[in-house]
Order: sequence, then structure tokens, then C-alpha cells
Amino acid sequence: MAIKRFYSEDKFDRRYCDVCGKALPGSYKGSTCADCKDDALYKEVKEFILHNEATELEVADKFDLPLDTIRRWIREGHLSYKGQKGME
Ligand SMILES: [Zn+2]
Repeated sequence: MAIKRFYSEDKFDRRYCDVCGKALPGSYKGSTCADCKDDALYKEVKEFILHNEATELEVADKFDLPLDTIRRWIREGHLSYKGQKGME
């Protein structure tokens, strides 16, 4: 029997995030970690809002995201709506 050099978790099919290289949980679906997935989604949402007149409700619906997440991104200054230019 071969000596295990790493953790016993290695008996599971260990996978790593395609983007940041972080180890993914064995049961995890997908090839990027939750953080990177979030990041990729955020970029998609940002692009969408830049090029479309959409309310946060429409964005939530389109991307199947909780309204809270979208509002948080907006609050953190990541996103802004075309319609809110006058509020600067
Ligand atoms: Zn990652």
C-alpha cells in the first residue's frame, strides 16, 4: 500500500478552482469556487446593467440572484444603474 503523502481527503477526487486554485470541497459542483463564481457573475451583471436599462428586480430575475446580493453590490459601489445618473 502506498504511503499517503497528503491529507486523507486525497482519497476523494480533489479538485481545485480553475481561477484561483483554491481546493474545492469534494461534493462541490462546478470548476470554480463560490468566490470566483460570484465574481464572474458580478462581472456579467455589471455588463448587463451597463448596456441595458434594467431595474434591480429585473436583474435579480434574469440572473436568478437574490435581490439582497444585487443591492449589496450596488451599495458597495460596484454597480450603478443608468437611471440613477442624476443622483451622483
Ligand atoms: Zn476560486
